Amino acid sequence: MNTLSPHWSQTSSRLMSACPRAWALTYASRQEIPLPRKDRTARGSQPPRTVDEVMVRAMRAAWQQKIADLYDRKVWTTAYAKRTLSRLVCDMLEEQRLTLPDLLREQKIALAVRQLNQLEHVRALRPLFNGEPRRWAFFDRRDPVSLNGLDLYAAPDLAVFHQNRWTLIRLQFRTPHANPMGQQLEHLLAVLWALQQTGFPEDPGSFRMKVVAWRGSRWHEHHLEVTPQSLHQARSLALHDVQEMNWLTRWAHADPSLSTLPLAAHHRTCERCVHRKGCPAETGLAKAKRIQEHLLRQEPHKAPTKSARTE
Ligand code: SF4
Repeated sequence: MNTLSPHWSQTSSRLMSACPRAWALTYASRQEIPLPRKDRTARGSQPPRTVDEVMVRAMRAAWQQKIADLYDRKVWTTAYAKRTLSRLVCDMLEEQRLTLPDLLREQKIALAVRQLNQLEHVRALRPLFNGEPRRWAFFDRRDPVSLNGLDLYAAPDLAVFHQNRWTLIRLQFRTPHANPMGQQLEHLLAVLWALQQTGFPEDPGSFRMKVVAWRGSRWHEHHLEVTPQSLHQARSLALHDVQEMNWLTRWAHADPSLSTLPLAAHHRTCERCVHRKGCPAETGLAKAKRIQEHLLRQEPHKAPTKSARTE
């Protein structure tokens, strides 16, 4: 992902909301901020920190391979899906030095195979797996388009042409509970992404938007209204986020120690954070926030001079 130009992605946006300091260390650092020495090895997007994050990444990687094979008319067997997922999970666990008892690992892989297989039966995807005649395409979420001078990472996972319209489909291998309205706007950005993509129509009315989300123990499907108003809101969300990211980047340049940057909104974010070592919140978020507030009262010139909500 090229992060030298302004960009919006779901991962970046959610990290900024969860912890501006972690966002600055992950993304703004690539824009040549002189990082604190201890953080210089911590650049790059967040690697999976928990076993569940490993499982989600492995399922998404397996899905990418499976759908590419389906496009070439190669159908996976359950045994092949299991081998592929096992290899991906084992590699990722090893890479992240996460350990998991063999039995538990096998159980999780079996559940992941089931989850992946069940995707074949959801209404939106069944025609593709049944070989019904459809024009369709699949995408990688890491492919950006340029929108208002920013790189927008909001690709749908699939686009299926049926009854004179394209249905854009986004898959959620886990569904966060927080901010359902914000999530809907994030999904609608896929329409803006498609409008900038060669080969798609230029009329927003040519698209339907569908989300296929894993909740509980099954896939749920729902449509989102694609209207000029909802697209306007989605675009405003992305532009607003990018404004805040620009402001955070400038803030981080102005204070290379990053000591005045806001810390995480919730201590759970810290538990999985790759920047925890050396962070003021390493030994407790609440205490770190109290110390930061105290320091800013002592040295008010270090406080930001603009609201993070201004350009
Ligand atoms: S440890 Fe917590 S406060 Fe520090 S960067 Fe990570 S998420 Fe933010």
